[in-house]
Amino acid sequence: MLTAYCYKLNPSPRQSQTMSDWLDRLRGLYNFALRERIEAYEQVKAPAMGDFCRLDNQGECCPLTCSVSKSASHAYPWKVDKEGNHKRRSAFEMQCASLPDMKESRPWYKRVNAQATQQTLRQLDTAFKNFFEHGRGYPAFKRRSHFRSFSYPPGVAKLNGNRAYVPSIGWLRFFNSRPIPEGYTVRTVTLRRKADGWYMSVRLENKAVPAIPTLQPSEVKTVLGVDVGVRKLAALSTGEMIANPRFAQQVERRKRIRQRRSSRKVKGSKNRRKAYQRLARLDQTVAQRRTDYQWKVANKLNRQAQCLIFEDLNIKGMVKRCKPKQDETGNFIGNGQAAKSGLNKAILDAAWGELKQKSMAVAAKSGHLVWSTNPYQSSQECSDCHFVSPTNRAGEKFLCESCGKLDDADTNASTNLRLRGMVELGISLDAVAGVLGKLGKSTPLE
Ligand SMILES: [Zn+2]
Repeated sequence: MLTAYCYKLNPSPRQSQTMSDWLDRLRGLYNFALRERIEAYEQVKAPAMGDFCRLDNQGECCPLTCSVSKSASHAYPWKVDKEGNHKRRSAFEMQCASLPDMKESRPWYKRVNAQATQQTLRQLDTAFKNFFEHGRGYPAFKRRSHFRSFSYPPGVAKLNGNRAYVPSIGWLRFFNSRPIPEGYTVRTVTLRRKADGWYMSVRLENKAVPAIPTLQPSEVKTVLGVDVGVRKLAALSTGEMIANPRFAQQVERRKRIRQRRSSRKVKGSKNRRKAYQRLARLDQTVAQRRTDYQWKVANKLNRQAQCLIFEDLNIKGMVKRCKPKQDETGNFIGNGQAAKSGLNKAILDAAWGELKQKSMAVAAKSGHLVWSTNPYQSSQECSDCHFVSPTNRAGEKFLCESCGKLDDADTNASTNLRLRGMVELGISLDAVAGVLGKLGKSTPLE
């Protein structure tokens, strides 16, 4: 079983200086390697004239007959495997193989730990894999604020009490807030800079503990529909509501003041830097509070049922800007963006996607199922007679125009999600009816 713990570090000034220094170097390497890959691709797309056309023996090419470019990668593209076969190196392997040359031409890279350097190239490789195989965005060049961590591969770092040994940095002290459980070994260690200092996340593995198998839909005894919202973070199909504390809104005024103070300081001054650090710490506090709350909610949801059903959320689409509007003469008129931006902030503050991810992480530990279903018209449909009408709902109230059912609008929606999810998963009403009583309208299980 794999798990991850995070600790706050307490490095010496020299260690923290070293780590910050490395971050800058590694960021440079990341951006350099990304540029190299982009150029290699551009050359394949539109072959440029090169110096040679045979990659294996680097034979010269004749520009009149051959337009194959030399590889944009700096390293030799071929390797010999154990059986003596010549194999082409992957882009990651080529970039790794070019590191010794790079260190000759840029000696300051010699100070950075070699394994951490390779892990940065691995990080880029993963970014490309995510792009090609998992439909994620194209790898981006990293600015300083977006490159904050570096890692060590499994088996090189070790932990002892409240000190961790990481190669080339030495023994780092940390706040041992959470003892490592018996039988777990330390795998990858990542050091990360945040607004209030350095953190260390440690991946732990215990091969003796098997991962808990996920329940089959036929074994599920309890199902819970979860309808997320802004006024309430979540409405459950049991009728329970989970409050949305709106952590970002709580500190909005304080944040505005700090932003104003920061921006009025002299550019490039130490005071300006300090002011922006204070601002960043506020953001971090908000994030920490939200994370803590969401773990608690995720655990609560998982205690209530074996199967959680969320809605498919298109958060990106929801927080899009309104289209600009023009009148007949071509002048731009109000499009309601100012009014919507408040809602957008609230949507991002609620962080539903994070809640869903955390629920999935908790569910994985107990073998629970988490499912997403299409929320189309789920707030207009009656969960008893399935009559759909936009006038069924008025604000927070739901009154069915066909059968007269009166309910909270969000509870009704979550009951609909629950039913839809059960149909999609093939869970019969009989299988769960005995436990939850009448559909979705029973007391919580606790
Ligand atoms: Zn009805």
